[in-house]
Amino acid sequence: MPLTNVQTRDVEALLHPYTPLHKLRETGPLVLDHGEGVFVYDTQGKRYIEGMSGLWCAGLGFGDKELIEAAREQLDRLPYYHLFGGKSIEPAIELAEKLKEIAPFEASKVFFTSSGSEANDTQVKLAWYYNNARGRPEKKKIISRQKAYHGVTIVSASLTGLPNNHRDFDLPVDRILHTDCPHYYRFGEPGETEEEFTARTVRSLKELIAREGPETIAAFIAEPIMGAGGVIVPPAGYFEAVQAVLAEHDILFIADEVITGFGRTGNWWGSETFGIAPDTVSVAKQLTSAYAPLGAVMISEELYQAFVEESAKIGVFGHGFTYGGHPLGCALGVKAIEIYQSRDILSRVRALAPQFQERLERLRDHPLVGEVRFKGLVGGVELVADKTTKRPFAANHGVGGICAKHLENHGAILRAIGDTIALCPPMIITSDELSQLFDSLEKALDDTEATVT
Ligand code: PLP
Repeated sequence: MPLTNVQTRDVEALLHPYTPLHKLRETGPLVLDHGEGVFVYDTQGKRYIEGMSGLWCAGLGFGDKELIEAAREQLDRLPYYHLFGGKSIEPAIELAEKLKEIAPFEASKVFFTSSGSEANDTQVKLAWYYNNARGRPEKKKIISRQKAYHGVTIVSASLTGLPNNHRDFDLPVDRILHTDCPHYYRFGEPGETEEEFTARTVRSLKELIAREGPETIAAFIAEPIMGAGGVIVPPAGYFEAVQAVLAEHDILFIADEVITGFGRTGNWWGSETFGIAPDTVSVAKQLTSAYAPLGAVMISEELYQAFVEESAKIGVFGHGFTYGGHPLGCALGVKAIEIYQSRDILSRVRALAPQFQERLERLRDHPLVGEVRFKGLVGGVELVADKTTKRPFAANHGVGGICAKHLENHGAILRAIGDTIALCPPMIITSDELSQLFDSLEKALDDTEATVT
């Protein structure tokens, strides 16, 4: 089909993130125009159920009047100010207080960024700064995991454990290490039980620490559920065992709650769902339900005290972003948390989770489906060429992308991560809408099967 006018303008003007650029010139983008509830509409007026909350972020859906009003009020009152050099604004103070109240650990202070990448980049800088302040300049390496996703700035992309984020970008930078991905279905060996797999994965972490020298390792970073690596839910006991290893060696646990925060797994935090006691936490995305860009890092009193002492020694704390703690983002963050509480979003997620699980489990019988994974209202469906051997499709086959395209034809938007179809619907979705989403997914899987076999 020839490109429409708006599609032509797009390909002539935009460099798109996470897109096969050569193909886009032929297909053109899907241009979205407006949204309401869990639906978005393209420029031709076609409606799609948005099963990914955009990029795992618009947890309260589209067109929420309370959020829009909060944004309008803040823009009227003070559209911009910052937190540099002793200035402040009340929305940032209020949001920091709210985050401290609900944090999954004894949070002392909140540092605002504009994104999840900046939050994780900040985490690494803070870990380095902390260990310099504490007189341990050699304790600087950060352990991440293969298939992790922590963002795309130079250091956060280095933390990310996905080949496309490293290849030809000259990454990862040094001092960033990657340990095994805890995905039993993909990396479990024949005959190995899930418990044995977990033990082996954690043993491998232990060996990495021993090889590098525990005195050189500052922190371990993990998403409670790996999102952009393919919605990988950790095996039982994994985080418990990991934390025991870290505790032996005085290694900080950085929880990247950018996807799992604010109710997604049925608790405020993925850390609660998986028994993680983090030392520090990164958030973004659902922090404002994506109505404005905002990220944050929550830190303990111990880190804060070290920073205060260092500041007294060397002067200003030399880190901060122009838009970190932007009034619009903070006002929206305050309102989003109020809505999560007033509309009891956690109970909503818990109430819908069994239906979400049941519809996912039903897909197990589909000829293309190798594994389904889920927790709360986030899930993944991994497509394979051979169910028995778990053989994946050849990478250049693009079967995930084919399925995502069929989904669009059936009025739904989900995200293909390689050959895993990710689901992360707005947490305000109704039971009927959830059924509609899965009906579209079933049809798209059948169409995909017909296309690829
Ligand atoms: N951390 C996690 C777990 C994420 O899923 C993402 C984005 O998808 C990020 C960090 C990076 O956030 P941003 O795209 O806002 O920089």
